[in-house]
Amino acid sequence: MEFIDLGRQMDRIRPSVSARMEKVLHHGQFIMGPEVGELERQLADFVGVKHCISCGNGTDALQMALMAAEVGPGDAVFTTTFTFIATAEVISLLGAEPVFVDIDPRTFNIDPAELQKQVERVRSEARLTPKAVIPVDLFGLPADYAVLEDYCRKQGLFMLEDAAQSLGSSLQGRMAGSFGDCGSTSFFPAKPLGCYGDGGALFTNDEQLAARLRSIRIHGKGSDKYDNVRLGVNSRLDTLQAAVLLAKLEVFRDEIQARQKVAAGYSSRLGERFSVPFVPEGAVSAWAQYSIVVEDRSALQAQLKAAGIPTNIYYPKPLHRQTAYQNLGYGPGSFPQAERISESILSLPMHPYLLENEVSQVAEACLQSKTASPRG
Ligand SMILES: *Cc1c(COP(=O)(O)O)cnc(C)c1O
Repeated sequence: MEFIDLGRQMDRIRPSVSARMEKVLHHGQFIMGPEVGELERQLADFVGVKHCISCGNGTDALQMALMAAEVGPGDAVFTTTFTFIATAEVISLLGAEPVFVDIDPRTFNIDPAELQKQVERVRSEARLTPKAVIPVDLFGLPADYAVLEDYCRKQGLFMLEDAAQSLGSSLQGRMAGSFGDCGSTSFFPAKPLGCYGDGGALFTNDEQLAARLRSIRIHGKGSDKYDNVRLGVNSRLDTLQAAVLLAKLEVFRDEIQARQKVAAGYSSRLGERFSVPFVPEGAVSAWAQYSIVVEDRSALQAQLKAAGIPTNIYYPKPLHRQTAYQNLGYGPGSFPQAERISESILSLPMHPYLLENEVSQVAEACLQSKTASPRG
């Protein structure tokens, strides 16, 4: 069994991928070819925003958005400590300071009440200027935008949604990528919508922000790439990757549906003994991961491995405990929820092509183990 089975997906889409790639080989416009624009239009429609700006990867997407918001030295950017390093790394690379926030242990996403506390603390210390917030839709579940959007607007904070794991998910009918001032995503192969290499995109309804992002994407270009009106980066989505993504978009809605079935199959079997993922009212997850919280994680992981079932730990160390961030001075116990979850979370195989009997097999193997989720 595979943790994420891209082979089964390829068996389904190979003719369409091949035909689209062949077309690119024929016209030869490998950089910013017609497929890039076509994909951007289709993705903007899919997410329900006016503008989609594709780019080289999800990390660049985050960095470009912060560059467009003119984040720099002296600025504080607030984000969850329970995420992939890329979310915070771009803040530091621009000379600003990441201010970490603890999570809601039910959703694993940034806790809006904790965010408010951190913003107030930074304002009262007056060393940094609160500038932006990056909520992450962890494991494919949108963060609590009903509260976060309102809060950021009132506080004058730029909000960047890190939707790297959540494309295809929604909250009260609004698609992930559409929240805040700007949304970003990743097309890394293992993400819900992945290409066959690196890729990323940004989403916004703000015309001026979109224009800045298009300029930043190509070295801060003005009327052409030899007219440079600001400093930018070199981060375009390859035409070949756009072609792959156009083929994958044809089946993406169907895949999101299939993921709901897999998740429901797991939860109905595991829910009695384990704390299974919580999906708030009105939310639909993209199920980038299906993660349970268990008391004796290493025992369960070893037992599943012996049964031929792969698992992964996202994430074994919150960002405030990473060596790279020891300079920020957060000690152990700074963010108790994230620390507790990082010690007990385990992700099970999850992809749209998991068969019913495979879901049962994984669930059975979990139930045969002696461990359960911690009480309370
Ligand atoms: C994958 C990921 C990224 C980075 O995307 P890349 O395309 O790998 O650069 C950023 N944030 C989160 C939450 C991710 O999961």
